[in-house]
Amino acid sequence: MTDIHSNIIIPTTKVKESNLSQLDLANIKFGHAFTDHMFVVDYDSGEWINPQIRPFGPIQMHPATSSIHYGQSIFEGMKAHRNKEGEIVFFRMDDHAARFCYSAKRMAMPEIPKGLFRKGIMELVKLDQAWVPQEEGYSLYIRPYMFATDEFIGIRRSTRYKFMVILSPVAGYYSGAVEVYASTKYTRAAPGGTGMAKAAGNYAAAILPAEEIKDNGYDQILWLDGRNHTNLQEIGTMNVFAVIDGEVHTPSLFEGTILPGITRDSAIQLLKSWNIPVHEREISIHELIEAQKKGHIDEMFGSGTAATISPIKGFGYDDQHYEVTLGDENSISTRLKNALQEVKQGNAPEEFGWVEKLN
Ligand SMILES: *Cc1c(COP(=O)(O)O)cnc(C)c1O
Repeated sequence: MTDIHSNIIIPTTKVKESNLSQLDLANIKFGHAFTDHMFVVDYDSGEWINPQIRPFGPIQMHPATSSIHYGQSIFEGMKAHRNKEGEIVFFRMDDHAARFCYSAKRMAMPEIPKGLFRKGIMELVKLDQAWVPQEEGYSLYIRPYMFATDEFIGIRRSTRYKFMVILSPVAGYYSGAVEVYASTKYTRAAPGGTGMAKAAGNYAAAILPAEEIKDNGYDQILWLDGRNHTNLQEIGTMNVFAVIDGEVHTPSLFEGTILPGITRDSAIQLLKSWNIPVHEREISIHELIEAQKKGHIDEMFGSGTAATISPIKGFGYDDQHYEVTLGDENSISTRLKNALQEVKQGNAPEEFGWVEKLN
């Protein structure tokens, strides 16, 4: 069935002059540079109305805009790359649309039709395509988001929302391996909470914990479960993997406390296609420490759209530090990183249907 939204014409107001000449790719910082235009569509009482592309810039908000006060706000993060031919390719856009709707449902927000999500992104990237870097390692980060816009003070489901898409050219997110600290003081998510949604409030709650562990020399938090602070959950904005005696282990998603990463899922599918055993299960920090002491951990890594695969060179817990071997060029994390990069850039054939071209 064709989605009615794939055929809509989006009214477009273009900038008089592009800012592209001011883009300094060599010194780019993640999420600091934005393209010339943005996509905006409003939702009011059951209908998506007034889709438009207009010059990137400030939006006016009523002082009582409900998302500012009560946080009905969600987002996605995905990437477009250029392949060797210079064509623009998207990675798993439909899966990002599906996850966005999943987040929306949990936060009592309207789902956006997949066709509208896709059309907004496609048309915006088409208009700003000169901003998609060709240089190796660079890409265009795509940030779809939605927030409640009812103008009153009081807590209930908003009747109005804004869905927007902004674009940011980026280099790789993390450089090098990271050291993580397993916090027993803070909790990211608990069963029944919002951990599985890309909901703005989850990230606000993680800022202070992240600052504290940075003060202690660590890069990211390794979140443990909210009940007992025992089982691994994820790292900052990455899912976590441990390679133990040649087999891959990652926390399972069944409790709904972990963000279901699309990079995580891609990694699992690739590993399975290579006949490498993958175990989605409960992994306790004590088991991990035991495995580290006995020399059974081959390597550990995190996965996420921003960084793809990030090696982990050590973890802290209870004021102790445990070093983890870094993978060499034949290690699972290196193979995954390279394979994912090639697929995402549209330079490798893939059997999964993950990649599509800008049309
Ligand atoms: C976005 C995110 C991830 C990674 O998801 P991807 O789809 O792979 O980018 C992992 N954990 C959290 C908390 C996230 O917000």
